[in-house]
Amino acid sequence: MHNAMIGFTVHTANAQSTQRVGRALAEQLSPGDCVALHGDLGAGKTCFVRGMAMGLGCEANLVSSPTFTLMHRYAGNICDLVHVDAYRLRHADELRDAGIDTSDTTAICAVEWPMRVPGVVPIKHLQVHIEAIGENDRMIVIANDGSTLTTRVAAALAPKPCPSCEVPCEIFGAHWPFCSSRCRDIDLGRWLDGRYQISRPLEERDLDEG
Ligand code: ADP
Ligand code: MG
Repeated sequence: MHNAMIGFTVHTANAQSTQRVGRALAEQLSPGDCVALHGDLGAGKTCFVRGMAMGLGCEANLVSSPTFTLMHRYAGNICDLVHVDAYRLRHADELRDAGIDTSDTTAICAVEWPMRVPGVVPIKHLQVHIEAIGENDRMIVIANDGSTLTTRVAAALAPKPCPSCEVPCEIFGAHWPFCSSRCRDIDLGRWLDGRYQISRPLEERDLDEG
């Protein structure tokens, strides 16, 4: 669903796909932007933030739940990431007392459990809702407030044509970049037939993810 007013939805079938969504979103952000992550325990909020860290050139494998520390700051090549978990917060003042600023203009901020405490995120922020709809299936809804930022994010996460059948398919889906396992097999068949060829020797970066 791509609804211009309410938001747009991306489905993922594994944690890696959720990370990819976080990464693609982070690539659209600028210093000072804040992302509020809604969703139950285990929905995939921290997983999404790990993807954001990848997108900002941070050491993504360091990203863990900051539940017991309130906040982690990760240095990134593109921008630093401030990761806040408001689950245990009783009052927004606790953040300020700890020297944490969710509208820090030198970093991109991601806040889990933003509804726990009023005022924990700046008024202008991007809302991401993650819901588990199966053991590994997640529905990620990004609210669209009509801003240029959400419009750009919507474009970055819009369905893309399947390389086999060219029908638009949801980004980072289970068979991405194909729409289905059938289209993936069709494409593999074209390689095996010799209809596709590699025009230059493979390089290490060809094998990199994303
Ligand atoms: P939260 O921060 O919302 O409490 P986490 O990101 O810490 O959640 O944990 C999500 C858990 O769900 C992880 O163990 C992850 O491997 C698992 N998982 C399974 N499928 C998905 C998916 N599609 N997206 C994100 N996480 C998933
Ligand atoms: Mg978490």
